[in-house]
Amino acid sequence: MGDEVSRDGRAPTDVHMVVQSVPLPACLCNSDGDIIYANALWTEAFHHLSAEPAQEAIKDLHIAIHRAVESGRSSEFEVTVPGSDDQSRTFAGHCGPVVLSEEPSATAMCVLVDITDARRREAQLAFMATHDALTGLSNRRMFEDSLVRSVARAGRGRSGVLMMIDIDNFKSYNDALGHNQGDQALVNFALLLQTHVRAGDMVARVGGDEFGVVFEATSIDEAASIGERMRKAAAEETFVAEARSFELGMSAGIVPFDGSEEIQALIDAADSALYEAKDAGRNRVIVRETGVLPSPDIDARAAYRIRKALLSGSFRGHYQPVVRLPEGSTSYFESLVRMVSDEGELEMPASFLPDTERLGLMGRLTRFVVDQVVETLATMSNVRASINISGSDIADSSLPEHVKERLNSRNVDPSRLAFEVPERVVTTQADAVRAWLDRIKPLGCKVVLDRFGGGSRGLELLRDLPFDQVKIDVSVLARLTEDDGGTAYIEAMRRVIETRGLEVVASQIEDPRVLERVRRAGFGLVQGFDVGRPRSKPE
Ligand code: GH3
Ligand code: MG
Repeated sequence: MGDEVSRDGRAPTDVHMVVQSVPLPACLCNSDGDIIYANALWTEAFHHLSAEPAQEAIKDLHIAIHRAVESGRSSEFEVTVPGSDDQSRTFAGHCGPVVLSEEPSATAMCVLVDITDARRREAQLAFMATHDALTGLSNRRMFEDSLVRSVARAGRGRSGVLMMIDIDNFKSYNDALGHNQGDQALVNFALLLQTHVRAGDMVARVGGDEFGVVFEATSIDEAASIGERMRKAAAEETFVAEARSFELGMSAGIVPFDGSEEIQALIDAADSALYEAKDAGRNRVIVRETGVLPSPDIDARAAYRIRKALLSGSFRGHYQPVVRLPEGSTSYFESLVRMVSDEGELEMPASFLPDTERLGLMGRLTRFVVDQVVETLATMSNVRASINISGSDIADSSLPEHVKERLNSRNVDPSRLAFEVPERVVTTQADAVRAWLDRIKPLGCKVVLDRFGGGSRGLELLRDLPFDQVKIDVSVLARLTEDDGGTAYIEAMRRVIETRGLEVVASQIEDPRVLERVRRAGFGLVQGFDVGRPRSKPE
């Protein structure tokens, strides 16, 4: 320290000694903002800089000194001292006026605190809030913000294009190759997308296997040919596992924007083109000429709403117990599907199942439910569950194969899964039901005749078809008085079915008096609102 000299070459004074002993970079400045004395730590902080970056780095410092000198008060500033790679440092500077008899030209003293780590952590947090950790791409939030800006710029100049992409059959990738390889495929796919766009275009991962690209100042034809190139390049990303080879397919929807669109409507239009690509057989790019959804066509809207929910997984399973009497333990849970609305509310099946069936989307929904229920069975080893099957599912000959594949891949005992077929479907499509049961029963799954009303036709079918269980819809009991013989009737029906070797459930019990009658009629299995309400988990 004895060697230290002030910038004007004078010998160190007591004031210099004090500055030197400050355990932080510190200096004294004159009223022009020039440094007249600096301690060793200060010199160290700036020593690696050649004159120009050093000047640049201390520009803020000068401003702060002037402010402190002019106002006669302390002022604060932040300065980043550049360095190679991650060697740059950020300092918080504190500058306060001083009056020193020993050093009359010094009007301010500055001290720097190294805040590099705190700033890096902040930057990291900001990055994490706007980026996807796996691929490093922007996330949905950043994507939508950027789309808002791009659409606004399109209004002032050339129009742009939005492309929404979803990888095809990605679940089977995960199943066959494992989650880690699945992750690697997502990273590769993200890289592949980036290599096909220009520097200013935005590529984001907006969901599990969903990606979005915003092209500014690009024609729809240009974007369509880029999309096609991406699709072909993806198909060349082949993985081989267990002697099977997997190609990465992608479906995409493309729409132009000229600045006049609402952002959500634009995303919906691109999504809807993407769903169309999925429905048309996957692995294709579909272009829409306008960024607005086609007219208020009711079917198109309904189909869009359901497809969107299917693609974003906006369905939730609820589970209603079938309870053993008299002990009250759960025999199994019937899974009931709910749809999550845009507002985040759960919609009951009546609001979406009729449209789903009418629009031919039941197959996708049932597969979704199968996947969810099998996943639940895989994670909760003491639970058994059933799934409702509709008329169109019965005609879907590849559904049993899907069930088999899911059960195998999650290693779930098939006897823990049952399918419930309504009596109405059994009586109207008897041959198709028979063919379907012939495929599902050999897997080892159980089958339940649901909503049985006791008609003679139904009893006849029971003899011919390999059902394991019958659910009698006892809601009718609520309207019958004891004198009508309701209890005796239902008891007789139970006995007839049980003598055929099937289990019987009294279902749809919504009234404690009905529960009591069912108990007296000797039922060992009961279900209904009054017995156990549907809940979000099978427990
Ligand atoms: P589709 O052709 O209809 O798109 O079918 P899909 O199998 O690709 O299914 P979908 O797009 O509905 O679901 C995406 C799947 O991607 C669900 C999940 O198994 C998988 N997935 C989502 N996020 C990740 C992830 O971070 N890593 C891995 N490995 N898989 C993921
Ligand atoms: Mg997918």
